[in-house]
Amino acid sequence: MQTEVVLAIGGNKGDRADFLQKAMDALSRQATLVGYSQIYETEAWGGVATSGNFLNQVVLIHTEMDPLVLLEVIQGIEEQLGRTREQHWGDRTIDIDILYFGDQVWDTPSLTIPHPYLAQRGFVLQPLAEILPKKIHPVLGKTSLELLAECTDQGQVSVWKQER
Ligand code: ATP
Ligand code: CA
Ligand code: CA
Repeated sequence: MQTEVVLAIGGNKGDRADFLQKAMDALSRQATLVGYSQIYETEAWGGVATSGNFLNQVVLIHTEMDPLVLLEVIQGIEEQLGRTREQHWGDRTIDIDILYFGDQVWDTPSLTIPHPYLAQRGFVLQPLAEILPKKIHPVLGKTSLELLAECTDQGQVSVWKQER
């Protein structure tokens, strides 16, 4: 059975747009890529990163994998793309988070779905509301647009345009 899965991808190290593209290419080899948001540029969140602004994007896939297998796959892609885990919320080439897995709710040590900070992050809600404005959060019972309207995250989030 195919499940609709929403992923957030982002990074602030190296050629950021190239890492987003490479992550999407890798995902599309392992699942069916159904859609993606524009790229957004955001200030680092959490006060740890030092390499500068992040580029973030939300990606929609269809997959037959179960959530824990998908988690392994995305961690494999992060590793291939040179992600190192030095510091939580620190600088990284690529981070891939599972925002939604159908309407499933998971609360285990290795996996929390929906993603626990989704409703607190403008850089997630803005691209999410762009591609899935009416998707209802299965725990909070609100749409992406409602969550975005209620979010108090002060970080600047703007559509990113490639510099030429
Ligand atoms: P945050 O989770 O706050 O966005 P992060 O993405 O920087 O922080 P990571 O170091 O990438 O955190 O991941 C830490 C762990 O989070 C992973 O090893 C994974 O087991 C766990 N995890 C729990 N829920 C999820 C999820 N929905 N998507 C991805 N990883 C998750
Ligand atoms: Ca993350
Ligand atoms: Ca992560």
